[in-house]
Amino acid sequence: MSDLVNKLICENLKALKPYESARRIFAGGDSDSETWLNANESPFANDFTIDTAHFNRYPDCQPPSVLLPYAKYAGVQANQLLVSRGADEGIELLIRTFCTPGKDSILICPPTYGMYAISAETSNVAIEKAPLKADFSLDIPAIFAYQGKVNLVFICSPNNPTGTSVGKAQLKQVLEHFADSALVVVDEAYIEFDADNTWATELAAYPNLVILRTLSKAFALAGLRCGFTLANSEVIQSIMKVIAPYPIADPVAQIAAQALSPNGLKQMAEQVEYLSQQKQWVKQQLNQFPELELVGDDKANFILFRYSKKQGLMDFLVANSVLIRDQSKQINLDNCLRITLGTQLQNEKLLALMASFFKQQETSA
Ligand SMILES: *Cc1c(COP(=O)(O)O)cnc(C)c1O
Repeated sequence: MSDLVNKLICENLKALKPYESARRIFAGGDSDSETWLNANESPFANDFTIDTAHFNRYPDCQPPSVLLPYAKYAGVQANQLLVSRGADEGIELLIRTFCTPGKDSILICPPTYGMYAISAETSNVAIEKAPLKADFSLDIPAIFAYQGKVNLVFICSPNNPTGTSVGKAQLKQVLEHFADSALVVVDEAYIEFDADNTWATELAAYPNLVILRTLSKAFALAGLRCGFTLANSEVIQSIMKVIAPYPIADPVAQIAAQALSPNGLKQMAEQVEYLSQQKQWVKQQLNQFPELELVGDDKANFILFRYSKKQGLMDFLVANSVLIRDQSKQINLDNCLRITLGTQLQNEKLLALMASFFKQQETSA
C-alpha cells in the first residue's frame, strides 16, 4: 500500500479483505459454458422489456411501480416497505441507520450469511456472535445474554447455508426479549421456498421486527440488484434519512415491476415449484452416495452436505466446469459444500460427475 493510502485509509478497514462472493472466487467465468451452482441464483433467465422514454430524468427514490405491487405481494402497507439495491444494501442501511460507528454492536448467529459481518466491519460496528446449536436451531440463552449490548440481531430464515428455518416459538421469544433494546432483522431472502414461515404478517405485533427480502433468488433477478426492507413505518422513515436519493435505476424499476405483475408472480411460483421438485430428486440421489452426509435442512434452493475429501471433489468439479460453493470455513461446517439447485440437465451433470469422482476414489483406494 502506498504511504498516502496507508495513512488515510480508515483504521477499521486496514485488515479487511473484500468479501469472497461466489462471483469473485470465479471472476470472469462464463455461465453459458460453465455450470454455476455456487451462488444460490436461479437457473432461469426470464424475458423483460425496457422503455427508454424517461432515461433523461432522475428516477423516483422509491418507485411506486415497484413499491405498490411488492407491498401487495408481501401483505404489508406501502409505508412499511423500502426498496433498495438488493437486500445487501438493506443490511448496510440498517447498520448505518441504527449503529453508531466505534460504539454499537450487532449480533449474528453463525454459520450464516456473510454480509452482516462484512457490512458491520466496513461501518466500524462491532460483531457479537451467538452460534447456532448443533442442530442449527437458535441458542436462545446465548442470544438473550446480549440484551442491552447490541442494536441489531440478524436472524436468517431459511438460513444460508444450512437451509434451516427458525421455529416460530424461538423467534417470538427473541422478538419479545429484545422488544425495548434491539431491532430483530429476519432475513427472508429464500422465503418463497418456505412461504408458510414468513414473518411479514407480524409487523403490527412486533414494533422491533424488520424483514429483508430480495428479487435475487426465487424471482431469478440476481443481476437486477433489487431488494426490500419490511418494517414499521418509524423504522422505514429512519432509513430514508440514510438512503441515497436515487438508489433504484429506472431500468431496474421497470424490470422489477414486470416481475411483480400477475404474470411475473405466476412464473415465479412455477419456477419455485420446479426447483422444489429438483431439490427432492437431487436429495434422493445424493443420499445414495455413502461417502457423503446431508447437513441441515432443505427450506431453500440449495443443499448442504459434508464429505471428508471435499477439496478433491471441488477440484474435480471445477476441472469439469461445474461450480459449487465451499462452506467449510464456517463454524460447525467443516468439510461442507453447498449445491444450488439448477435445471434438471445441470443437476444431472453434477450428479454424474460426482458419481464418477466417487468411483475413481474407490478404484484408487
Ligand atoms: C443472497 C442473499 C442476500 C442478498 O440478496 P441481494 O438482494 O442479492 O443483495 C441476502 N441474504 C441472504 C441470506 C442471501 O442468501
